[in-house]
Amino acid sequence: MLLGAAALLALCPVPALAQSVSVVMPASGPAADAWTALEAGRLREAEQIFARALAAGPDDTAVLLGSAVVARRLGQGTNARQWLIRALQIDPSLSAASMLLAALSREAGDLETALRVYEAALVRAPDHRELKAGAEACRTELARLTRWPGDLGGETRLFFEGPVDEATARLALESAARARDRIGAALGVTLADRVTVVLVTSPSSPAPVAAVPAWSTSQFDGRVRMQVRPPVKDRAEFERMLTHEYAHAVLRTVAPGGVPTWLNEGFATWLEPGGLTRAGRDLRAAGVLLPWPRLQESFASLPPEAVTAAYAQSALGVAVMITRAGIPAVLAMMRDLAAGETLDGALRSRIGLSVEEFQREFLASLRVP
Ligand SMILES: [Zn+2]
Repeated sequence: MLLGAAALLALCPVPALAQSVSVVMPASGPAADAWTALEAGRLREAEQIFARALAAGPDDTAVLLGSAVVARRLGQGTNARQWLIRALQIDPSLSAASMLLAALSREAGDLETALRVYEAALVRAPDHRELKAGAEACRTELARLTRWPGDLGGETRLFFEGPVDEATARLALESAARARDRIGAALGVTLADRVTVVLVTSPSSPAPVAAVPAWSTSQFDGRVRMQVRPPVKDRAEFERMLTHEYAHAVLRTVAPGGVPTWLNEGFATWLEPGGLTRAGRDLRAAGVLLPWPRLQESFASLPPEAVTAAYAQSALGVAVMITRAGIPAVLAMMRDLAAGETLDGALRSRIGLSVEEFQREFLASLRVP
Protein backbone atom coordinates (compact mmCIF):
# COMPACT_ATOMS: atom_id res chain seq x y z
CA MET A 1 0.00 0.00 0.00
CA LEU A 2 0.96 3.60 -0.24
CA LEU A 3 2.76 5.25 2.62
CA GLY A 4 1.17 7.30 5.36
CA ALA A 5 -1.59 9.89 5.37
CA ALA A 6 0.42 12.80 4.06
CA ALA A 7 1.69 10.40 1.42
CA LEU A 8 -1.61 10.58 -0.37
CA LEU A 9 -0.40 13.84 -1.80
CA ALA A 10 1.79 14.01 -4.80
CA LEU A 11 4.63 16.35 -5.40
CA CYS A 12 5.52 17.16 -8.93
CA PRO A 13 8.32 19.57 -9.49
CA VAL A 14 7.75 21.26 -12.83
CA PRO A 15 10.06 19.22 -15.03
CA ALA A 16 11.29 22.28 -16.83
CA LEU A 17 14.32 21.46 -18.88
CA ALA A 18 15.97 19.51 -16.13
CA GLN A 19 19.03 18.74 -18.19
CA SER A 20 20.65 22.02 -19.06
CA VAL A 21 22.60 22.04 -22.29
CA SER A 22 24.95 24.83 -23.21
CA VAL A 23 24.99 25.79 -26.86
CA VAL A 24 27.42 28.39 -28.19
CA MET A 25 25.57 31.03 -30.19
CA PRO A 26 27.06 31.87 -33.58
CA ALA A 27 27.98 35.57 -33.65
CA SER A 28 26.99 35.90 -37.28
CA GLY A 29 25.19 33.97 -39.99
CA PRO A 30 21.67 33.91 -41.33
CA ALA A 31 20.09 33.20 -37.98
CA ALA A 32 22.13 35.48 -35.69
CA ASP A 33 18.95 37.51 -34.98
CA ALA A 34 17.13 34.34 -34.00
CA TRP A 35 19.80 33.45 -31.44
CA THR A 36 19.54 36.97 -30.02
CA ALA A 37 15.74 36.63 -29.74
CA LEU A 38 16.18 33.21 -28.16
CA GLU A 39 18.60 34.55 -25.57
CA ALA A 40 16.13 37.35 -24.74
CA GLY A 41 13.35 34.77 -24.23
CA ARG A 42 11.37 35.86 -27.33
CA LEU A 43 10.81 32.29 -28.41
CA ARG A 44 8.14 32.77 -31.05
CA GLU A 45 10.17 35.46 -32.78
CA ALA A 46 13.20 33.12 -32.70
CA GLU A 47 11.06 30.29 -34.04
CA GLN A 48 9.93 32.38 -37.03
CA ILE A 49 13.44 33.56 -37.94
CA PHE A 50 14.82 30.02 -37.65
CA ALA A 51 11.97 28.71 -39.83
CA ARG A 52 12.86 31.20 -42.58
CA ALA A 53 16.57 30.40 -42.24
CA LEU A 54 15.83 26.68 -42.38
CA ALA A 55 13.82 27.12 -45.58
CA ALA A 56 16.75 29.01 -47.13
CA GLY A 57 19.45 26.64 -45.89
CA PRO A 58 18.10 23.28 -44.74
CA ASP A 59 21.60 21.86 -44.17
CA ASP A 60 22.94 24.68 -41.99
CA THR A 61 23.77 22.85 -38.76
CA ALA A 62 23.73 26.03 -36.64
CA VAL A 63 20.20 26.75 -37.85
CA LEU A 64 19.13 23.13 -37.28
CA LEU A 65 20.57 23.28 -33.78
CA GLY A 66 18.92 26.62 -33.00
CA SER A 67 15.59 25.42 -34.35
CA ALA A 68 15.86 22.40 -32.06
CA VAL A 69 16.67 24.54 -29.01
CA VAL A 70 13.55 26.62 -29.61
CA ALA A 71 11.36 23.60 -30.37
CA ARG A 72 12.47 21.92 -27.14
CA ARG A 73 11.43 24.94 -25.09
CA LEU A 74 8.09 25.17 -26.90
CA GLY A 75 7.26 21.52 -26.22
CA GLN A 76 7.79 20.40 -29.82
CA GLY A 77 10.00 17.44 -29.01
CA THR A 78 9.37 15.55 -32.24
CA ASN A 79 10.51 18.51 -34.38
CA ALA A 80 13.50 19.08 -32.13
CA ARG A 81 14.58 15.45 -32.49
CA GLN A 82 14.22 15.47 -36.27
CA TRP A 83 16.36 18.59 -36.62
CA LEU A 84 19.06 17.26 -34.29
CA ILE A 85 19.23 13.93 -36.11
CA ARG A 86 19.54 15.82 -39.40
CA ALA A 87 22.32 18.01 -37.93
CA LEU A 88 24.17 14.89 -36.76
CA GLN A 89 23.82 13.26 -40.19
CA ILE A 90 25.53 16.33 -41.69
CA ASP A 91 28.12 16.66 -38.92
CA PRO A 92 28.34 13.58 -36.67
CA SER A 93 30.89 15.33 -34.45
CA LEU A 94 28.46 18.08 -33.43
CA SER A 95 28.54 17.34 -29.69
CA ALA A 96 26.02 20.07 -28.81
CA ALA A 97 23.43 18.32 -30.99
CA SER A 98 24.17 14.99 -29.28
CA MET A 99 23.87 16.60 -25.85
CA LEU A 100 20.55 18.15 -26.74
CA LEU A 101 19.23 14.95 -28.30
CA ALA A 102 20.17 13.00 -25.17
CA ALA A 103 18.60 15.69 -22.96
CA LEU A 104 15.32 15.38 -24.86
CA SER A 105 15.30 11.64 -24.20
CA ARG A 106 16.13 12.14 -20.52
CA GLU A 107 13.38 14.73 -20.14
CA ALA A 108 10.95 12.25 -21.69
CA GLY A 109 12.10 9.65 -19.14
CA ASP A 110 13.89 7.48 -21.74
CA LEU A 111 17.31 6.88 -20.22
CA GLU A 112 18.08 3.94 -22.50
CA THR A 113 17.85 6.06 -25.64
CA ALA A 114 19.74 8.89 -23.95
CA LEU A 115 22.57 6.49 -23.10
CA ARG A 116 22.75 5.26 -26.71
CA VAL A 117 23.03 8.87 -27.92
CA TYR A 118 25.81 9.67 -25.45
CA GLU A 119 27.71 6.48 -26.33
CA ALA A 120 27.48 7.14 -30.07
CA ALA A 121 28.79 10.69 -29.56
CA LEU A 122 31.61 9.49 -27.30
CA VAL A 123 32.99 7.32 -30.12
CA ARG A 124 33.92 10.59 -31.89
CA ALA A 125 34.69 12.66 -28.81
CA PRO A 126 35.91 10.18 -26.14
CA ASP A 127 37.17 12.91 -23.81
CA HIS A 128 34.09 15.15 -23.92
CA ARG A 129 33.39 15.88 -20.24
CA GLU A 130 29.64 16.58 -20.45
CA LEU A 131 28.99 13.58 -22.71
CA LYS A 132 30.89 11.29 -20.31
CA ALA A 133 29.03 12.70 -17.29
CA GLY A 134 25.66 12.27 -19.05
CA ALA A 135 26.41 8.67 -19.99
CA GLU A 136 27.58 7.90 -16.47
CA ALA A 137 24.45 9.42 -14.92
CA CYS A 138 22.24 7.28 -17.18
CA ARG A 139 24.24 4.11 -16.42
CA THR A 140 24.09 4.72 -12.67
CA GLU A 141 20.33 5.30 -12.77
CA LEU A 142 19.62 2.33 -15.05
CA ALA A 143 21.74 0.04 -12.83
CA ARG A 144 19.26 0.68 -10.00
CA LEU A 145 16.28 -0.31 -12.14
CA THR A 146 14.73 -3.56 -13.35
CA ARG A 147 12.81 -3.30 -16.58
CA TRP A 148 9.40 -4.98 -16.54
CA PRO A 149 9.24 -6.97 -19.80
CA GLY A 150 5.57 -6.63 -20.73
CA ASP A 151 4.28 -3.15 -21.40
CA LEU A 152 0.63 -3.52 -22.42
CA GLY A 153 0.43 -2.12 -25.92
CA GLY A 154 3.86 -0.57 -25.84
CA GLU A 155 2.74 2.78 -24.43
CA THR A 156 4.27 2.59 -20.97
CA ARG A 157 7.88 1.85 -20.06
CA LEU A 158 7.74 0.21 -16.64
CA PHE A 159 10.62 -0.23 -14.21
CA PHE A 160 11.01 -1.38 -10.64
CA GLU A 161 13.46 0.20 -8.28
CA GLY A 162 13.61 -2.56 -5.72
CA PRO A 163 11.89 -5.98 -5.63
CA VAL A 164 9.69 -6.77 -8.64
CA ASP A 165 6.01 -7.54 -8.01
CA GLU A 166 3.84 -8.88 -10.82
CA ALA A 167 0.45 -7.82 -9.43
CA THR A 168 1.68 -4.27 -8.91
CA ALA A 169 3.17 -4.20 -12.40
CA ARG A 170 -0.15 -5.26 -13.88
CA LEU A 171 -2.03 -2.66 -11.82
CA ALA A 172 0.40 0.07 -12.89
CA LEU A 173 0.10 -0.81 -16.58
CA GLU A 174 -3.70 -0.97 -16.45
CA SER A 175 -3.90 2.29 -14.50
CA ALA A 176 -1.51 3.96 -16.94
CA ALA A 177 -3.61 2.80 -19.92
CA ARG A 178 -6.76 4.25 -18.34
CA ALA A 179 -4.92 7.46 -17.45
CA ARG A 180 -3.74 7.80 -21.04
CA ASP A 181 -7.29 7.38 -22.37
CA ARG A 182 -8.82 9.68 -19.79
CA ILE A 183 -6.30 12.48 -20.24
CA GLY A 184 -6.14 12.07 -24.01
CA ALA A 185 -9.94 12.36 -24.26
CA ALA A 186 -10.06 15.40 -21.98
CA LEU A 187 -7.19 17.35 -23.53
CA GLY A 188 -7.18 16.07 -27.09
CA VAL A 189 -3.41 15.65 -26.75
CA THR A 190 -1.69 12.42 -27.74
CA LEU A 191 1.82 11.72 -26.55
CA ALA A 192 4.44 11.01 -29.18
CA ASP A 193 6.60 9.26 -26.59
CA ARG A 194 5.91 6.44 -24.20
CA VAL A 195 5.65 7.42 -20.55
CA THR A 196 8.14 5.89 -18.14
CA VAL A 197 6.79 4.67 -14.81
CA VAL A 198 9.18 3.70 -12.01
CA LEU A 199 7.68 1.78 -9.10
CA VAL A 200 9.95 2.28 -6.13
CA THR A 201 9.56 -0.79 -3.94
CA SER A 202 12.88 -0.47 -2.16
CA PRO A 203 12.51 1.42 1.14
CA SER A 204 16.08 2.68 0.91
CA SER A 205 15.86 4.34 -2.50
CA PRO A 206 17.19 7.86 -2.53
CA ALA A 207 14.87 10.69 -3.59
CA PRO A 208 15.35 11.55 -7.28
CA VAL A 209 15.60 15.25 -6.54
CA ALA A 210 16.92 16.78 -3.38
CA ALA A 211 13.86 18.98 -2.85
CA VAL A 212 11.33 16.19 -2.35
CA PRO A 213 9.69 16.67 1.07
CA ALA A 214 8.73 13.84 3.37
CA TRP A 215 5.00 14.10 2.57
CA SER A 216 5.46 13.21 -1.09
CA THR A 217 5.46 9.61 -2.33
CA SER A 218 5.07 10.25 -6.01
CA GLN A 219 6.73 12.68 -8.33
CA PHE A 220 7.17 13.45 -11.97
CA ASP A 221 10.72 14.22 -13.06
CA GLY A 222 10.35 13.19 -16.70
CA ARG A 223 9.36 9.79 -15.32
CA VAL A 224 6.44 8.95 -13.08
CA ARG A 225 8.01 7.74 -9.83
CA MET A 226 5.76 6.12 -7.25
CA GLN A 227 6.77 4.67 -3.92
CA VAL A 228 4.75 1.56 -3.29
CA ARG A 229 4.75 -1.33 -0.82
CA PRO A 230 3.15 -4.37 -2.48
CA PRO A 231 0.51 -5.57 -2.24
CA VAL A 232 -1.37 -2.38 -3.10
CA LYS A 233 -4.54 -2.32 -0.98
CA ASP A 234 -6.08 0.97 -2.11
CA ARG A 235 -6.14 0.50 -5.87
CA ALA A 236 -8.28 3.58 -6.50
CA GLU A 237 -5.81 5.77 -4.64
CA PHE A 238 -2.91 4.21 -6.55
CA GLU A 239 -4.67 4.97 -9.84
CA ARG A 240 -5.50 8.53 -8.76
CA MET A 241 -1.86 9.26 -8.00
CA LEU A 242 -0.64 7.60 -11.17
CA THR A 243 -3.17 9.57 -13.23
CA HIS A 244 -2.00 12.79 -11.58
CA GLU A 245 1.63 12.12 -12.47
CA TYR A 246 0.70 10.89 -15.95
CA ALA A 247 -1.09 14.20 -16.47
CA HIS A 248 2.19 15.98 -15.75
CA ALA A 249 3.86 13.90 -18.46
CA VAL A 250 1.23 15.06 -20.95
CA LEU A 251 1.16 18.70 -19.77
CA ARG A 252 4.96 18.84 -20.04
CA THR A 253 4.66 18.22 -23.78
CA VAL A 254 2.23 21.17 -24.01
CA ALA A 255 4.43 23.55 -22.03
CA PRO A 256 7.85 22.36 -20.82
CA GLY A 257 8.44 25.51 -18.79
CA GLY A 258 7.20 28.95 -17.80
CA VAL A 259 3.97 27.71 -16.19
CA PRO A 260 3.22 28.60 -12.55
CA THR A 261 3.09 25.61 -10.21
CA TRP A 262 -0.58 26.16 -9.33
CA LEU A 263 -1.54 25.83 -13.00
CA ASN A 264 0.40 22.58 -13.52
CA GLU A 265 -0.68 21.04 -10.22
CA GLY A 266 -4.23 22.30 -10.53
CA PHE A 267 -4.62 20.87 -14.01
CA ALA A 268 -3.10 17.51 -12.98
CA THR A 269 -5.45 17.37 -9.97
CA TRP A 270 -8.42 18.37 -12.14
CA LEU A 271 -7.59 15.42 -14.45
CA GLU A 272 -7.59 12.84 -11.63
CA PRO A 273 -10.65 10.60 -11.38
CA GLY A 274 -12.97 12.58 -9.08
CA GLY A 275 -10.31 15.28 -8.84
CA LEU A 276 -12.58 18.31 -8.84
CA THR A 277 -15.04 16.89 -6.30
CA ARG A 278 -12.21 15.99 -4.02
CA ALA A 279 -10.62 19.43 -4.42
CA GLY A 280 -13.88 21.15 -3.41
CA ARG A 281 -14.17 18.90 -0.36
CA ASP A 282 -10.51 19.39 0.61
CA LEU A 283 -10.66 23.16 0.32
CA ARG A 284 -13.84 23.36 2.43
CA ALA A 285 -12.22 21.11 5.04
CA ALA A 286 -9.01 23.17 5.04
CA GLY A 287 -10.97 26.39 5.46
CA VAL A 288 -8.06 28.53 4.23
CA LEU A 289 -6.98 30.13 1.00
CA LEU A 290 -3.35 30.71 0.14
CA PRO A 291 -2.17 33.88 -1.59
CA TRP A 292 -1.81 33.06 -5.32
CA PRO A 293 1.79 34.32 -5.51
CA ARG A 294 2.65 31.68 -2.88
CA LEU A 295 1.43 29.05 -5.35
CA GLN A 296 3.60 30.27 -8.22
CA GLU A 297 6.67 28.31 -7.12
CA SER A 298 7.18 24.69 -6.08
CA PHE A 299 4.87 23.40 -3.34
CA ALA A 300 7.86 21.62 -1.76
CA SER A 301 8.52 24.49 0.64
CA LEU A 302 4.91 24.80 1.85
CA PRO A 303 4.22 23.69 5.44
CA PRO A 304 2.75 20.16 5.29
CA GLU A 305 -0.60 21.35 6.71
CA ALA A 306 -1.01 23.78 3.78
CA VAL A 307 -0.30 21.26 1.03
CA THR A 308 -3.77 19.77 0.64
CA ALA A 309 -5.29 23.24 0.39
CA ALA A 310 -2.67 24.25 -2.19
CA TYR A 311 -3.58 21.40 -4.54
CA ALA A 312 -7.31 21.92 -3.99
CA GLN A 313 -7.19 25.69 -4.55
CA SER A 314 -5.08 25.16 -7.68
CA ALA A 315 -7.54 22.64 -9.12
CA LEU A 316 -10.51 24.90 -8.45
CA GLY A 317 -8.63 27.81 -10.04
CA VAL A 318 -8.05 25.74 -13.18
CA ALA A 319 -11.74 24.77 -13.14
CA VAL A 320 -12.67 28.48 -13.23
CA MET A 321 -10.62 28.95 -16.40
CA ILE A 322 -11.98 25.79 -18.02
CA THR A 323 -15.57 26.76 -17.24
CA ARG A 324 -15.05 30.22 -18.69
CA ALA A 325 -12.96 29.52 -21.78
CA GLY A 326 -12.69 25.75 -22.30
CA ILE A 327 -9.77 23.32 -22.17
CA PRO A 328 -8.22 24.30 -25.54
CA ALA A 329 -7.96 27.91 -24.32
CA VAL A 330 -6.18 26.82 -21.13
CA LEU A 331 -3.75 24.70 -23.17
CA ALA A 332 -3.16 27.67 -25.50
CA MET A 333 -2.46 29.80 -22.43
CA MET A 334 0.12 27.27 -21.23
CA ARG A 335 1.79 27.34 -24.65
CA ASP A 336 1.91 31.15 -24.46
CA LEU A 337 3.55 30.94 -21.04
CA ALA A 338 6.15 28.46 -22.32
CA ALA A 339 6.88 30.89 -25.16
CA GLY A 340 7.66 33.65 -22.65
CA GLU A 341 4.29 35.47 -22.31
CA THR A 342 3.48 36.98 -18.91
CA LEU A 343 0.73 35.34 -16.85
CA ASP A 344 -1.42 38.45 -17.06
CA GLY A 345 -1.00 38.70 -20.84
CA ALA A 346 -1.73 35.01 -21.43
CA LEU A 347 -4.74 35.07 -19.08
CA ARG A 348 -6.19 38.14 -20.81
CA SER A 349 -5.74 36.88 -24.34
CA ARG A 350 -6.79 33.23 -23.80
CA ILE A 351 -9.22 33.32 -20.87
CA GLY A 352 -10.43 36.92 -21.13
CA LEU A 353 -9.49 37.83 -17.54
CA SER A 354 -6.73 39.85 -15.91
CA VAL A 355 -4.96 38.24 -12.96
CA GLU A 356 -7.12 40.26 -10.52
CA GLU A 357 -10.32 39.39 -12.38
CA PHE A 358 -9.33 35.72 -12.33
CA GLN A 359 -8.78 35.85 -8.56
CA ARG A 360 -12.17 37.56 -8.05
CA GLU A 361 -13.89 35.00 -10.27
CA PHE A 362 -12.22 32.21 -8.32
CA LEU A 363 -13.60 33.61 -5.03
CA ALA A 364 -17.04 33.98 -6.60
CA SER A 365 -16.92 30.34 -7.76
CA LEU A 366 -16.44 29.22 -4.13
CA ARG A 367 -19.68 30.92 -3.13
CA VAL A 368 -21.67 28.98 -5.73
CA PRO A 369 -22.95 25.79 -4.06
ZN1 LIG B 1 1.62 17.08 -9.26
